[in-house]
Amino acid sequence: MGCPKCKSEHSVKNGHHHHGKQRYKCKDCKCQFTQEQPAEKAQNSNIGHFTIC
Ligand SMILES: [Zn+2]
Repeated sequence: MGCPKCKSEHSVKNGHHHHGKQRYKCKDCKCQFTQEQPAEKAQNSNIGHFTIC
């Protein structure tokens, strides 16, 4: 699970989003993000991550 911000692989699980999605926190830049399920209709480059920081 790579960080969408700094591309670091040093991310750790950090609880769950309120919708039940796994939430991660990057140990390098402290960015928090969730892994989204790819939507069939969405075709933009933001698929896969939702950055919180
Ligand atoms: Zn990072």
